[in-house]
Amino acid sequence: MIRDGNNKSFWQSTEKIEDFGTDFKELTFHTIVVGAGITGVTLAKELQNRGISCLLIDKKNPGFGTTGGTTAHINNFYDTSYDEIIANFGNDAGRELVVGTHKTLDYIVQNIRKYAVACEFDTCDFFLFSTNGKQTKKLDEIYRAHKQLGIKTVEDSSIPFDLSFEKVIKIEAQGQFHPIKYINGLLQAYKIEGGAFLLNQAIESFNNDGENITIKTSDARIFTAKNLVWATHVPPGKNRFNLLLTAYRSYVMVFKLTDPPTALAQAADLYDPYHYFRYHVSSNGNYLIAGGFDHKTGVGENSEKCFTELDNYVRRYLGFSDFVAKWSSQYYVSADGLPYIGRMPSEKNIYVSTGYGGNGMTFGTMASLVIPDLLEGKENELSKMLSPGRIKPIASVKSVLSVGINASKHLIKDKLKAKQVEIFDTIPLNEGRIVTFENKNLAVFRDKDGGGAH
Ligand SMILES: Cc1cc2nc3c(=O)[nH]c(=O)nc-3n(C[C@H](O)[C@H](O)[C@H](O)COP(=O)(O)OP(=O)(O)OC[C@H]3O[C@@H](n4cnc5c(N)ncnc54)[C@H](O)[C@@H]3O)c2cc1C
Repeated sequence: MIRDGNNKSFWQSTEKIEDFGTDFKELTFHTIVVGAGITGVTLAKELQNRGISCLLIDKKNPGFGTTGGTTAHINNFYDTSYDEIIANFGNDAGRELVVGTHKTLDYIVQNIRKYAVACEFDTCDFFLFSTNGKQTKKLDEIYRAHKQLGIKTVEDSSIPFDLSFEKVIKIEAQGQFHPIKYINGLLQAYKIEGGAFLLNQAIESFNNDGENITIKTSDARIFTAKNLVWATHVPPGKNRFNLLLTAYRSYVMVFKLTDPPTALAQAADLYDPYHYFRYHVSSNGNYLIAGGFDHKTGVGENSEKCFTELDNYVRRYLGFSDFVAKWSSQYYVSADGLPYIGRMPSEKNIYVSTGYGGNGMTFGTMASLVIPDLLEGKENELSKMLSPGRIKPIASVKSVLSVGINASKHLIKDKLKAKQVEIFDTIPLNEGRIVTFENKNLAVFRDKDGGGAH
């Protein structure tokens, strides 16, 4: 399979999924799902299970996007930590998210069992640790929030990685798998049950008359549907998500272990950006997957430097040197720290699922617990919380929106007149505000240098 990155990821040697064939009798569907990463593939299978006719399309192959460049931790906690979620969304929302997350992780396990997907799925504990007083304070806040919400977390005294730390908590029962084997397994089941899938087909044109959506693919065929879901990681074109999402790049390396790890485990520290690790076991051997050195895309981009720093870090602190693979990939952080899953604001019959940060295995799957219900006219607690049209305060969230100083200045200037841009000067440095512009609320963050209002 191919991927949208220069370096080959650890997962890429997986066999290509067979072409589904393109001779459909029907050119009209209930829903078109665009994008065959974890979001689109899981969703297409769920729609099929519910008897909703669906066409899945990808401009390349399954896993071409970030799903082919992930590290595939399947976690029940997020980059936006639960103390931040409680602070920004409230206790009840925190509890709802815990319940929704639990259902999502169960759903992945059920899929693996139901379709007998051989995807190197394992469960293990996650060790989140601090290395100094500031990090320990944060770790304590996270620990308290987990206790409050009933997420199984305990204080511990050691970690299964050769790293020094000040304090550590163990978050129990996390998952991990081979992401491409997982989506290929779901696609295989989708195919056996007659699912429609077009590979290597970009959408050349798109029309939504409010009743029907018509698309033209690169091979000049026309398909119609009542609904369309952008499962493209970020929805294409000019839309509110240009402002609400920030692109980051993360770097990953894989090393082969000479012996199996004493315990399968995942871990991360609390630096900003943080370093993250996990072991992976396959029939070919035992591996360490390590990542970090994330930065905003396009800001101080020097990939080779990031890889060198990561390589030095792993060799120096973890002591592994048998290099197997390295790659980088992009993820997108939302303005208030939670993803946008649901109806595209001001567009009839268009749905979107985006803004997962580094938690797209869980959130990408969660889309299948939200969007099919919405298509059937049902709201649920998750769909309300994750609605792409929500307005939330953003000041205290670490993962605030910004589009990069230069990019955002241009973007904002394109959208707003100069005089109106002045309202951003009233926002204190390093803080976010909701500002009203042309009777609409706009989430805006001003970075610490005051160089750009985002
Ligand atoms: C280095 C790194 C490590 C990560 N690690 C983890 C992790 O451990 N755990 C976790 O939960 N998350 C992790 N994430 C995040 C996670 O990988 C992503 O959020 C997730 O893979 C996104 O899946 P997706 O299906 O939404 O998008 P993608 O996988 O990007 O799929 C989108 C698909 O849409 C297709 N497409 C795009 N535009 C069009 C178009 N116009 N027409 C047709 N097709 C189109 C693309 O070809 C692609 O196949 C990580 C991210 C990075 C960068």
